[in-house]
Amino acid sequence: MNSRHNSYDITIVGGGIPALFCALNFNKLGLKVLLVTKGFDRNSRPVPRGKSISYAISPSNIGLFTRCGLREQFFKMSEDVFEMHLFEDEACLKLSSDLGPNDYLTKIVDHTNLHNLLFTATSSLQDLHTISGKVAGFAYSPDGKQCNLKILRDSEKEISTINTNLLVVADGANSFCRHILGISWGIKNYCQRAVLANFKSSLSPSIARQWFRRDEVMAFLPTSKNSLSMIWSQRDCDAQKLLEEGNSFLMKKLSNFIGTTMLSRIEIDSKMISAPLSMITVDELVKKRVILLGDAAHTVHPLAGLGLNIGLFDILTLVNEFDKAISKNRKFDAGCKSILSSYLRARLFKTRAIQTLIDTIKVGFSTGGNSAKLFRTRGMNLLDRSDLLKRYIVRFAASIL
Ligand SMILES: Cc1cc2nc3c(=O)[nH]c(=O)nc-3n(C[C@H](O)[C@H](O)[C@H](O)COP(=O)(O)OP(=O)(O)OC[C@H]3O[C@@H](n4cnc5c(N)ncnc54)[C@H](O)[C@@H]3O)c2cc1C
Repeated sequence: MNSRHNSYDITIVGGGIPALFCALNFNKLGLKVLLVTKGFDRNSRPVPRGKSISYAISPSNIGLFTRCGLREQFFKMSEDVFEMHLFEDEACLKLSSDLGPNDYLTKIVDHTNLHNLLFTATSSLQDLHTISGKVAGFAYSPDGKQCNLKILRDSEKEISTINTNLLVVADGANSFCRHILGISWGIKNYCQRAVLANFKSSLSPSIARQWFRRDEVMAFLPTSKNSLSMIWSQRDCDAQKLLEEGNSFLMKKLSNFIGTTMLSRIEIDSKMISAPLSMITVDELVKKRVILLGDAAHTVHPLAGLGLNIGLFDILTLVNEFDKAISKNRKFDAGCKSILSSYLRARLFKTRAIQTLIDTIKVGFSTGGNSAKLFRTRGMNLLDRSDLLKRYIVRFAASIL
């Protein structure tokens, strides 16, 4: 392993959920890890709840929590989903965990709670190196065996130079590192925003509900026995109007969508927030001694609740590659070609396939016209009557990552 003062096995850039997971898991492997993120202060207090965003965490990613000893705490703070009800006009497709390989379909967790859990665990790692700042320059060492990073510290406004065998870029959809590395990327703008809000709810718990209507998709994710989180993707202009008009307008709009019976059982409990929606693809997920992860590497429409999950599975795959290499090699090099190639083989096709699939579903449900609508309604009703097909869908969803 690396022992020189400003030299690291792995440097992670970013402070979101994927970056913190990387720090925890790579540190567990006994590697010398540096986390570079804007505004990181390990003595700061956890952030109070506030951002009304909830994630559906796939069973495939639970291993990541187990590896860093956070499984029990995650299970306590998350809500199990046993059934998923999908609606499109007259049609309804009900999927249940009984049909799949796991006890539950997914676990719902609040963004802030999860971030705080990871932040607290990361901050308590004595041997984890951190710099609060951002990457300002990148070059390879003359022998090509390390990356040299120039880091602009937040507080001191000074530049530090560090060397790392592997650079993990996890600085989000607008990644600055991607830019300085010269990695080309493409964006498909859906011209939509997701409107998010939390509700008190007396609807049956443990059921996630999702409505498709033309180019709108709305989901209710249960966050506890008596609360849920709404995520409603809609045209930019409609979302803007909803935010301007406020909560009573939202309830009126919702009644058209979910009907008055269901509406009478929920009560808004937060301010609305919104986020723009797009699909980002990059030309290179991996470059010499560099890996892109999380939203820096890929974003998807939130209709399948997979965005974060894809990033977490990237990390699980990488950690498994490290494990294999560490058990084989005495002189472990986190950025060596064989690790990066195996990782790329495992992730490139899958990532592209998931992005294409989600985009196709999005386009498929947006297609107007009576015949398209009839096809969707008939198709969903037909699926709902076949346990065999439903079992296939649940198993496919559980193994998609
Ligand atoms: C509305 C909505 C709903 C979603 N729902 C789901 C869901 O149900 N399930 C799911 O799996 N996913 C979901 N996602 C996707 C999920 O939110 C993202 O995939 C995930 O948060 C990405 O994390 P990230 O760390 O890659 O990016 P970000 O969360 O954007 O974090 C980037 C981090 O990098 C730091 N940073 C930025 N620039 C620099 C720099 N130059 N130097 C150092 N640090 C820097 C930032 O401070 C930040 O901490 C949803 C997304 C949206 C928009």
